[in-house]
Amino acid sequence: NANRKFHPEDTVVQVGNTQIGGGNLTLMAGPCSVESEEQVVAIAKAVKASGATMLRGGAFKPRTSPYSFQGLGATGLEYLKVARQETGLPIVTELMDLSQLPLFKDVDVIQIGARNMQNFDLLKAVGHQDKPVMIKRGMSATYEEWLMSAEYVMAGGNENVILCERGIRTFESYTRNTLDLACIPVLRKLTHLPIIIDPSHATGKSWLVDPLAMGAVATGADGLLIEVHNDPAHALCDGPQSLKPEVFDGLAKKLLKLHDFM
Ligand code: PEP
Ligand code: MN
Repeated sequence: NANRKFHPEDTVVQVGNTQIGGGNLTLMAGPCSVESEEQVVAIAKAVKASGATMLRGGAFKPRTSPYSFQGLGATGLEYLKVARQETGLPIVTELMDLSQLPLFKDVDVIQIGARNMQNFDLLKAVGHQDKPVMIKRGMSATYEEWLMSAEYVMAGGNENVILCERGIRTFESYTRNTLDLACIPVLRKLTHLPIIIDPSHATGKSWLVDPLAMGAVATGADGLLIEVHNDPAHALCDGPQSLKPEVFDGLAKKLLKLHDFM
């Protein structure tokens, strides 16, 4: 059960030798899409050196246009594993469809994307897996609906659920989405599950990632999901919101300092 009432103590999700929740600040970073082995290995090494504890990258991509790059698929998962072997960073990657599940055996954390937050069959299936599941908030999902999606996974016996706020749809169009930082204190009250904030998809703009990431840490987030690309101008996906490794380095240091101070 995701409800704090029935489970007062915070859930701490163990991933490899790192923990999400329990007072840690988890930095998940990496490219929106895995583009090549060299690309993902180079980014993984850079973000690890900056203090990231998990590598996040997409192999199966839910793109709005069918003409956009759809991800490298199974090959992308192989490159992520190479990057994990080179750096020791656990990998977080999105599962889009049930048919892909057998390929996700060696993945460390399964991401359920915003568009699939209410794909109930997918949620039931990952509820029977013995690995953590990070559920991104649907673009127009209420807290209650989001928590019900967590319940779907937990009802199958998988208690290792992480929530990820990635911005919601509002009337504002300057930013890609509107980041709902109030979700942190509200979810803390309603649930014991760890909360990750994704300022990259929430804003769609690289220059807004820093202030909102700082705000998320100040508000008590358990971690951040930040897109980092070695060459954002030529990224195959989400370049405008991606940080260069050297920019991520400066931000990671500030975030960890702020978290220590709190
Ligand atoms: C992503 O994490 O790369 C992604 C597609 O995000 P969302 O599901 O939040 O749109
Ligand atoms: Mn992305």
